[in-house]
Amino acid sequence: MARTRLIVATGNRHKVEELSAQLGEFFVVEGLPEGYDPPAEDGMSFAANAKIKAQSAAARLGCLCLADDSGICVDALDGAPGIHSARFAGAGASDQANNQKLLAALADLEPTQRSARFVCALSLATPEGEIAAFQGVFEGVIAAAPRGAAGFGYDPLFITADGRTAAQLSGAEKRARSHRGAAVAALLTALKEGSITI
Ligand code: IMP
Repeated sequence: MARTRLIVATGNRHKVEELSAQLGEFFVVEGLPEGYDPPAEDGMSFAANAKIKAQSAAARLGCLCLADDSGICVDALDGAPGIHSARFAGAGASDQANNQKLLAALADLEPTQRSARFVCALSLATPEGEIAAFQGVFEGVIAAAPRGAAGFGYDPLFITADGRTAAQLSGAEKRARSHRGAAVAALLTALKEGSITI
């Protein structure tokens, strides 16, 4: 069966790589066209921002689009940085600056007080509007110092169930456990079961 064209509506190349690895078997995955001007992400939740990005891209580009809005929620910070994860240390902040700010915010806390989770909201939209939404969660603990060189964002600070950080997992291991992996798996299940049609 011919694979459907799917534009992954994100400028984050790490997200495109992680999503493409799971979706490539089922879709012809493309990134956003050169010069694409993304909409303002002014939603109050991961799901709201994913919907804004997917609907806007699908309407403007005239094809099926998938958007990912994600971030890290730290219990000791009442869920922050949450939807502000990419700009925790300021607009355009580097991953390193965001990680340093998070480490400083948790400096005096014991491991038992450093619980956190990654959340990923996915929105799948056609030019007519959102057709489905999915979410995945990845539970962990914030490390006292970064470890590992793989992944992106807060991965070097995120201790997973086996004691390694997300930046010490292979791509396949991260996909099998992560918030993004779980959200994509839910999307693929919905497609296979026929609860959504594209
Ligand atoms: P968004 O582009 O507004 O969805 O922001 C996502 C931000 O959340 C990224 O820039 C990272 O800082 C963080 N983030 C989301 N997913 C991951 C992940 O899988 N690993 C590490 N950081 C992540």
